[in-house]
Amino acid sequence: MASIRTRIQVQGIVQGVGFRPFVHQLARRLGLGGFIQNNSYGVEIEVEGGGEAVGDFLRGLREETPPLARVTGIESSPLNTLGQSDFTIRASEALAGRTALISPDVAVCDDCLAEMFDPSDRRYRYPFINCTNCGPRYTIITDVPYDRDKTSMRVFEMCPACAAEYGDPADRRFHAQPNACPVCGPRVTLLDGAGHPIPLDDPIAGAVEALHKGLVLAVKGLGGFHLAADAADADAVRRLRSHKHREEKPLAVMSTDMESIRTYARTTPEEETVLASIQRPIVLLRARTPSPLAPNVAPDNRYIGAMLAYTPLHHLLLRDFPALVMTSGNLTDEPIAIDNQEAVTRLDGIADYFLVHDRDIYLRTDDSVVRLDGPRPRQIRRSRGFVPVPVFLRRPQPSILALGGELKNTVCLTKQDRAFVSQHVGDLENLLTLEFFDLTIRHLRRILDIEPAALARDLHPEYLSTKVALSQRELQVIGVQHHHAHVVSAMAELGLAGPVIGLACDGTGYGDDGQIWGGEFLRADEAGYERLGHLDYAVLPGGAAAIKEPWRMALSFLDLAFGREALDLDIPFLDRRNPDQVHFIRQVIAKRVNSPLTSSLGRLFDAVAALIGLRDVAAFEGQAAMMLEMACPEGEFDPYDFDVSEIEGRFVVQPQALIRAMVRDLVDGRAREEISGRFHAAVIRALAETTLRISARTGLTTVVLSGGCFQNQVLTRGLIRALETAGLKALTQHLVPVNDGGLSLGQAVCAGARLIGAGR
Ligand code: ZN
Ligand code: ZN
Ligand code: FE
Repeated sequence: MASIRTRIQVQGIVQGVGFRPFVHQLARRLGLGGFIQNNSYGVEIEVEGGGEAVGDFLRGLREETPPLARVTGIESSPLNTLGQSDFTIRASEALAGRTALISPDVAVCDDCLAEMFDPSDRRYRYPFINCTNCGPRYTIITDVPYDRDKTSMRVFEMCPACAAEYGDPADRRFHAQPNACPVCGPRVTLLDGAGHPIPLDDPIAGAVEALHKGLVLAVKGLGGFHLAADAADADAVRRLRSHKHREEKPLAVMSTDMESIRTYARTTPEEETVLASIQRPIVLLRARTPSPLAPNVAPDNRYIGAMLAYTPLHHLLLRDFPALVMTSGNLTDEPIAIDNQEAVTRLDGIADYFLVHDRDIYLRTDDSVVRLDGPRPRQIRRSRGFVPVPVFLRRPQPSILALGGELKNTVCLTKQDRAFVSQHVGDLENLLTLEFFDLTIRHLRRILDIEPAALARDLHPEYLSTKVALSQRELQVIGVQHHHAHVVSAMAELGLAGPVIGLACDGTGYGDDGQIWGGEFLRADEAGYERLGHLDYAVLPGGAAAIKEPWRMALSFLDLAFGREALDLDIPFLDRRNPDQVHFIRQVIAKRVNSPLTSSLGRLFDAVAALIGLRDVAAFEGQAAMMLEMACPEGEFDPYDFDVSEIEGRFVVQPQALIRAMVRDLVDGRAREEISGRFHAAVIRALAETTLRISARTGLTTVVLSGGCFQNQVLTRGLIRALETAGLKALTQHLVPVNDGGLSLGQAVCAGARLIGAGR
């Protein structure tokens, strides 16, 4: 049979994931000649041989791909035969356009772990063992195409043994760019609290000893430093908390195996699958009581955030411990430290010892955090393991750089039909985070080769991202309303063009009337929205201060419901508060000093949490609302009444009757669990009924839920059930967070749609 030759371009995540050795072996098995090389689009292949074998080859390309590869497109075209019978791997070639997708960082594989614990292996106990199926990627890459000299491994010259593996297409380490061994690769060092190296044969054993003594260890990981402490040792955890100035927020823990996790958490099979996935996120699990963990790891919390070890170093460190606290190596509110010297300086007084190494991290990446919704993980913080995998959009659009929001910031860059949402950047409230924000943008632009056509920003005039956008003149700036961006972020990952009924419920977002929104019913498509309804306005006493102090919101809603009689109520909330403070805030409310109006559902949750005695002052963002959800038992509750009126053509959901009924329950001494249950049921019913009225009026039957309030699963599940029972289609998002971490995606798609619309 006559030979044919075919050129094949493969797009997707095909570099640095063992794709070339896989293709090499496939071609040899089928007796085909030709070559493969990485290029900036992905990989380029030419094969030559019998027509049937070439057909089998194309099928194999789609069906037998290595575990980390993700093929998004295969194009083939015929060529003239050259009579080539051998198959080779060619050196990479840099092209002008760069659309090759970069793999995220991946947990160490079982093969590498087995070698690391094998005393006869040349990498026995070597903490940087990796292969084409595992190891660092995104955090060590400086440019594309992905080759060793474009990574932080470039300073380590491979020894002959490593070079032989690297060059052997039959080896698991063929072209594994971070390939290394104890002879030629990175090394760990233990530093004392002042940053001086401690001469030890086995620095890891020294670090383990420090942990056993109850000390706090800073560990350099994949995307940055962790602070580690023995999770069973309450004194060690207390030290870590006081050093880090993190008194209450739950701390994540890490274990090496599922059996250990099962001793302190109740897991479902789906949760275990996600825990063991190559991304290794922190999964929020139901905590067991009693628990072998110290109670101050996650105080007053029904949940525990746990992850499985994902670097070889973690496995060596954790062998003696069922669980270590592993929390970001930073002061609260600052970005995670990545550089050795930087860590020693910034974590001075926080860590007792530092376990560092000399493989540089180029881009800091926090641990991702997910919570399961049935079988599917929902992102709470999307970072390591997921970035830079794109969200695929329903259509190509002009390239946009979206700057995100203020808290839980991420940025998003789009190219054609791909949206690259950055890792969690953090709260843009200090200089260090702002620098990291800049660096992330520059880095993503370089490795993705994106020249944005426009910038997208939030409407809030005080956000740092707004100031950044307005301080430049090169690019057009498109403002996107906060809650519209939330809704579009969900539409984008769901592939919806709209119009839909967008239900955006969160803490705070700047409204187009200058007030603070957060309980919004929008008729939304990608480019625009109309506000069809909202939660009634209440005074936000003292602005931002009311967000940190839920008791102020409680007073505000009491005022709304009872007017001047609010102070005569016989409820523990008022007995607890200082009368002078109460008087002062009531003045602030009456005169609206420094106090915008807010339609935020998050603030109503805060107010109720304070009223029923869960939390008067929040130790971290969203704490009061989270405690209210945790106080809600399973089961059916009789909902409080909400009134819904129509004002100037908009539906306004009014909580006055609800507050009055709740106060009656408080006066009657009802349990807070019951009140929380009735409150959740009331919010679900009010949102569902209003949505149904909007659906009847507009004819729209698809409802999209987004915004931080929908991290509350009682609310989200209950509302989706109510809407679906009524015959509507109700959807929410999973790939990017419903909280402000997802805003950048919505901004980017909205701005893209407006440019497409303007071009028509
Ligand atoms: Zn491996
Ligand atoms: Zn070596
Ligand atoms: Fe928001």
